[in-house]
Amino acid sequence: MNKPNIVVLGAGYGGIMTTIKLEKILGDNDANVTLVNKHDYHYQTTWLHENAAGTLHHDRTRIPIKDVVNFNKINFVQDTVKSIEPSNKKVILEDGELTYDYLVIGLGFESATFGIEGLKEHAFSIYSINSARLIREHIEYNFARYTTEPGDRRDLLTIVVGGAGFTGIEFIAEIANRVPELCQEYDIDPEKVRVMNVEAGPAALAGFDEELVEYAMNRLEEKGVEFRLGTMIKQCNENGILVEKDGEQETIDSQNVIWAAGVTGNSIVEESGFEVSRGRVPVREDLRTPDHDNVFVVGDCAVLFNPETERPYPPTAQIAMQMADTAAHNLKQLVTNSSELETFKPNLQGTVASLGHTDAIGVVFDGKKLYGRSASIMKKVIDNRYLLKLGGIGLMLKKGKLDMFR
Ligand code: FAD
Ligand code: NAD
Repeated sequence: MNKPNIVVLGAGYGGIMTTIKLEKILGDNDANVTLVNKHDYHYQTTWLHENAAGTLHHDRTRIPIKDVVNFNKINFVQDTVKSIEPSNKKVILEDGELTYDYLVIGLGFESATFGIEGLKEHAFSIYSINSARLIREHIEYNFARYTTEPGDRRDLLTIVVGGAGFTGIEFIAEIANRVPELCQEYDIDPEKVRVMNVEAGPAALAGFDEELVEYAMNRLEEKGVEFRLGTMIKQCNENGILVEKDGEQETIDSQNVIWAAGVTGNSIVEESGFEVSRGRVPVREDLRTPDHDNVFVVGDCAVLFNPETERPYPPTAQIAMQMADTAAHNLKQLVTNSSELETFKPNLQGTVASLGHTDAIGVVFDGKKLYGRSASIMKKVIDNRYLLKLGGIGLMLKKGKLDMFR
């Protein structure tokens, strides 16, 4: 009897956890499983802001897929997905194509620039190991340039972060911590460096606990971060950005513009003809697409509404991993001809945002607020727990943040 082919696209939180779970729960004769990913490594997107600021080397963040997936059981294809043809049950790759009986789409997020002129060409975004490494190198290069270029090129020392969501705040905290080191390395007076956050909304971390937001802003301002709230980035060009506040426009000269003001699902999904809402597939409760009984979507390519708040669950690693459990379970049901599919029920365990190596803010479990060292320890516990789940104690000891009490 021919075994059905399950193809998983993307080895981010959603894709890799679906694969690992399938590896565990499927019998030898249940299905063939193929995982497709652009790189031969998985990375923890949740650490990319540290790699981009240069406070953590990117090799700590990436994990060879062969170290966590059993290639005797799972077929791994390193290739780039170009498109999906659901009517032909086919995936088109850069170097070939694959057919499937069941598909899991876990291709992650892209930076959303909302059509703002010049951002794609002149700003940087944090979305992969390569993009994070580029930001780190670019900022270092501009600090090195400052001492060799004629004139007082303060634009080389001005770092602008667009957006005060969690990504913008986590990144600006890391870069604020890195600036003293950069100044020392490149013989620069720290007074000449500007680290600025530009946020369109009236507050940073909209919707998050106000007391914790105030704590975060105070801590960052103490480190020299300048906040521009209620200020919208309207344009970006080779000299910097144009912003608008209360109808007044201003240009800010900067050679280091980091756009962290929003994400959308991978555009391949929409381009392949799937129904999307702001780039994400509004999946059914069992995580299948509205139109295809054999296609699941997990992680940031999917959107599901919280029935209590009637708002979408946020695109987070936490949700992506929980979706992976449900998708794997439901695939097992389908390939073993059981019709009972599980409904996805997220178990929201709170949110913790880092503010550098030893500081953080968070709301956990039943609304308990944490800040400072205790929040930072909690963040590291969450990260280490993920590594334990992904690759066992060995991986956690190798890559984990075990210095949490230092
Ligand atoms: P991703 O993790 O983005 O993985 C997608 C995978 O698909 C990648 O391996 C990529 O290489 C691969 N891929 C993409 N395109 C192709 C292609 N065309 N062909 C082949 N492979 C492809 N969430 C939290 O819950 N907690 C946090 O602390 C947190 N911190 C964050 C910090 C930062 C700086 C950022 C940017 C996000 C953070 N998030 C956090 C959000 C979280 O990272 C995302 O929600 C999560 O990564 C989504 O997982 P995913 O599996 O959908 O996609
Ligand atoms: P976001 O959408 O949460 O925040 C983007 C911010 O940019 C908003 O505050 C928005 O008002 C602002 N903005 C939009 N357009 C602007 C403009 N033109 N000018 C200035 N500001 C503008 O995006 P994000 O921070 O990238 O987060 C994406 C997802 O990842 C969220 O679900 C978030 O919860 C998750 N995440 C979680 C963590 C964590 O749990 N520690 C860390 C990072 C990201």
